[in-house]
Amino acid sequence: MTHSPLLSLDDALTRIKTAVQPIVGREQIVLNMALGRTLAEDIQSPIDVPAYTNSAMDGYTVVGSDLPAESKITLKVIGTSSAGHPFDGEVQPGQTVRIMTGAMLPRGADTVVMQEQVERDGDNARIGPGHKPGQHVRYAGEDLSIGQPVLKTGRKLVPADLGSLASLGFGETSVKRRLRVAFFSTGDELRSIGQPLAEGEIYDSNRYTLHAMLTRLGVDLIDMGIVPDQRGAIEQAFLDAATIADTVITSGGASVGEADYVSETLAKLGQVDFWKIAIKPGKPLAFGTINDTLFFGLPGNPVSAMVTFYLLVQPALLLQMGQDDITPLRLQVPCTTNLKKRPGRTEFQRGTLLRSKDGTLSVASSGAQGSHVLSSMSRANCFIVLPAESAGIRAGEQVEVQPFAGLI
Ligand code: AMP
Ligand code: MG
Repeated sequence: MTHSPLLSLDDALTRIKTAVQPIVGREQIVLNMALGRTLAEDIQSPIDVPAYTNSAMDGYTVVGSDLPAESKITLKVIGTSSAGHPFDGEVQPGQTVRIMTGAMLPRGADTVVMQEQVERDGDNARIGPGHKPGQHVRYAGEDLSIGQPVLKTGRKLVPADLGSLASLGFGETSVKRRLRVAFFSTGDELRSIGQPLAEGEIYDSNRYTLHAMLTRLGVDLIDMGIVPDQRGAIEQAFLDAATIADTVITSGGASVGEADYVSETLAKLGQVDFWKIAIKPGKPLAFGTINDTLFFGLPGNPVSAMVTFYLLVQPALLLQMGQDDITPLRLQVPCTTNLKKRPGRTEFQRGTLLRSKDGTLSVASSGAQGSHVLSSMSRANCFIVLPAESAGIRAGEQVEVQPFAGLI
């Protein structure tokens, strides 16, 4: 165990990323089960999408060179092509075929004129000037062409990806197996919901925030409850967790209080670094391994636990799940409230990003910033990221925000 001086967030992230290996297991699953899973194969298109050149409009399909430059021309309507029912002939100059959106372009035709711009009179269709050859046509392979890379290993599958896979005819896909994450809370003061609270006791809330944040990542959860501040109990919990999980996350006991046995036990069972990271909230973090199992010991304060999870644990889990490293979105916006800060650590204050009627964005503090104040975290929709050297913000100054929508 090392007690190092304050470590920068970037250095901590680099160390974590160096230590993390993506899991290797994969499974074949049907598309309808694949949302949010990590793709474990590179997908190339086996076909052209669209498979055939077709119309982007309801209208009339013509030979482009027939289109008049000035006066109107009259074409003979020789049939209809609708989606799923192509016209089985060839369009000659002077002819046209009624065509619907998505219907195959008949041989000879290369252009579509919208039906609103065509005067139909029996078998005749009259078309005026102002059209371009090739207009309103979707070409075969325009979306995806045969052999083209479509999706890469490591992609977190979103609805449009599943639609793309379906458009290629794939009913199943290969994804990484789910990551197994065990978590528990430590602290003699903690009680589970439903138990009476004696003096000096509090309800365990971290297990609920952790459960929720992990659920969003799509991992398999193993909730191991509350473990008291006792060496034997903590050691047993770690050993149990390490045999069943890829990653173990605890909260509490990460400070250097007397009854905090987390880092001590970890040092005994595995390889552990105990870091003080130059961020606020969330300074202490234990990080290490027990055999092949990754371990994160988060601080007990509810907001510190969430901030360290989002900033340090989530990127590690995504890497372990085999997912691409996605840098969170950050924006520069004016801050409408004063923000207190002392120089020294990078602060992740809780903010509310607002869009005014004229479309401009601004941010305000979402309330008291104590690391125990979860209500201001509930109200927040972004972090206001204040650099280490900042000595506070006056209303009207620009700040950098990291929207929560970009956290996952
Ligand atoms: P610790 O990291 O154990 O020193 O805890 C720091 C603070 O967080 C203390 O006020 C604890 O009571 C509180 N705390 C620790 N674990 C939890 C938890 N699971 N839920 C709510 N508060 C907690
Ligand atoms: Mg404690």
